[in-house]
Amino acid sequence: MKVVLQNLTKKFPGRGKEKKDVIAVNNFNFEIPDGTLVGLLGPSGCGKSTTLNLLSGLQTPTEGKIFFGEDDVTHLPAENRGIGLVFQNYALYPHLTVEQNIMFPLQNLKGDKKLTKAAMQEKALEAAKMVQIDGLMDRKPAELSGGQQQRVAIARALVKMPNLLLLDEPLSNLDARLRLQTREEIRRIQRETGITTVFVTHDQEEAMSISDMIVVMKDGVINQIGKPQEVYDEPINLFVAKFLGTPSINVFTGKIAGGKLYIGEDAVMDVPNVSDRDVYVGIRPEGFVLSESGAFTCDLVGVEVMGRDISVISKNAASEGESIRSIISSENVVDTSKKTVRFDIKPNKLFVFDKETEERIEF
Ligand code: ADP
Ligand code: MG
Repeated sequence: MKVVLQNLTKKFPGRGKEKKDVIAVNNFNFEIPDGTLVGLLGPSGCGKSTTLNLLSGLQTPTEGKIFFGEDDVTHLPAENRGIGLVFQNYALYPHLTVEQNIMFPLQNLKGDKKLTKAAMQEKALEAAKMVQIDGLMDRKPAELSGGQQQRVAIARALVKMPNLLLLDEPLSNLDARLRLQTREEIRRIQRETGITTVFVTHDQEEAMSISDMIVVMKDGVINQIGKPQEVYDEPINLFVAKFLGTPSINVFTGKIAGGKLYIGEDAVMDVPNVSDRDVYVGIRPEGFVLSESGAFTCDLVGVEVMGRDISVISKNAASEGESIRSIISSENVVDTSKKTVRFDIKPNKLFVFDKETEERIEF
């Protein structure tokens, strides 16, 4: 089922002395294509959960509309929307078994949708199998690990075969290894079932790795929507460039003068079609190429070996960050007795942003 957000806005009235309204979701317009997994991504407080709550019907928008397929569901109560919800804290019923927890959403079905106990058990088993907890049906939540509990919550959200699956930071309480494993599993289940899914996270790597499309948000405003790789390769502004990628992009103050891009005194690139101005320059860690005659000179701090790659740590007066991190194939040898290191910069890994607006400048 495709989902359309149209001029969707949610304001919370201000409290206290300032009484300034919070616009948690500011005029959202986008379409989630049928069967895709969309990652809603942004820092804490940017409005991700509010967006999800609007989709689920737990909150009503101040303005705008939500469509499920062709149906306007803006004012449809949550229980009639046919959605599955998973939150960060699994919120399982502690006194019920795994099976009873998964079956729970089926128990209130009325009229011709009402199911026999055997039918409910069968559906619960099916959902449990999807997340590989079908061997644990008689346990209580307290007898499960965090990862298993979260799987129960996912099975419970899937048991009704929802039109839309909404996941709000579902992996935050899991340790690193389980987080990785569970996110792959969510992706697999989403592919198998074809359920349109919205996955909320503040973790860019998580969103990038499993989403068909990411929506990068900041302060209630959508900054960019696109395929993960496209957004990474073509960030629309400095915020998006900084938010995506580990290690994060290296940012420098610079200027454009006479068709050349300068970082400090170094003319690092020709930009013949851009008029003179002050800029920020972003260079991805993988955008540096060691070169004796490189145009960009930095003070060498050290080298970290990472196996396949090495990370060259350096400093430059124009750098916004404490140090510069570049990732280079380990076939390269860095002479650490030297005080400086010189780089050529890969043009497709370098972005220029207007200093005032922080919007990216094409060159
Ligand atoms: P996220 O999930 O991205 O961390 P939220 O959607 O929870 O962000 O919150 C977005 C903004 O809306 C925040 O500034 C938050 O303080 C505010 N907010 C969220 N819920 C409420 C509420 N019920 N009342 C007032 N302000 C709220
Ligand atoms: Mg949240």
